[in-house]
Amino acid sequence: MKPTYRGRFAPSPTGPLHFGSLVAAVGSYADALAHGGDWLVRMEDVDEGRKAAGAADAILRTLERHGFQWRGEVLFQSRRKARYQEVLEILLRQGHAYPCGCTRKEVQQTGLQGPEGPIYPGTCRNGLPAGRRARAFRLRVPELEICFHDRIQGRFCQQLQAEVGDFVIRRADGFFAYQLAVVVDDFDQGITDVVRGADLLGSTPRQRYLQKLLGAPFLRYAHLPLVLDAGGRKLSKRDRAHPVDDDDPVSGLLAAWRFLGQPEPPEHPARPLEFWSWAASHWKLSKNHEPCP
Ligand code: GLU
Repeated sequence: MKPTYRGRFAPSPTGPLHFGSLVAAVGSYADALAHGGDWLVRMEDVDEGRKAAGAADAILRTLERHGFQWRGEVLFQSRRKARYQEVLEILLRQGHAYPCGCTRKEVQQTGLQGPEGPIYPGTCRNGLPAGRRARAFRLRVPELEICFHDRIQGRFCQQLQAEVGDFVIRRADGFFAYQLAVVVDDFDQGITDVVRGADLLGSTPRQRYLQKLLGAPFLRYAHLPLVLDAGGRKLSKRDRAHPVDDDDPVSGLLAAWRFLGQPEPPEHPARPLEFWSWAASHWKLSKNHEPCP
């Protein structure tokens, strides 16, 4: 029987976990435990240029020290290129994807700026201009508003073409884009629930559109509040800011738990596993929004 809840934590191994990623891990694991579901870990190392040596091992060690227990083997995106290529070929055959010869600079120079970055003006949409070779591959997006209900953020809508444009699914450096890899992996791993940071809320309509094209089931989403640094920026693993202390896991877990607005345990847990057995029955997401029709 298929589980009714299957969640995942999907860090990019660009450095050791920081407090912001611990918050995402705590939110997704607590939600899976509270639903009696499965929870998986996936290393999102699809962008091999950003990988930091030893970071994947350090992240897994930190998760273990904090009492996280994942199901099965950790999936590494860097080992899934053949699968992503197969999906790219299907999308090309069906006319949903096309080769693009534009450089990043050319796209930026058109000056079309959306909430998610430069908007592709569609130069190669109907074929590569003469003398141009394929650099990247893009997904053709329709003039369509995509809306979904987020369990925390409420209803979120995006005009895919006007706000984002045809987006890259295989990059000019040959690596597959996160947007494609995440959808293929969530599908292949049978994920039902995504709990992650709110910085990815604006990526979700692209992912839902890809899910639709691939015939993948739609997922439930909960986008957690982001931890920001003193300058109001999202923490980055590459900056090594706010690292998590593997020698004091209970304090880190409690800090993440409080950050997520969860109730204080009556007694200070002595060990991570004690924290988790209490957390499993006290986790609550705020749901003060109307669901999507
Ligand atoms: N790999 C992404 C990150 O580390 C998370 C992607 C996801 O959860 O969909 O920010």
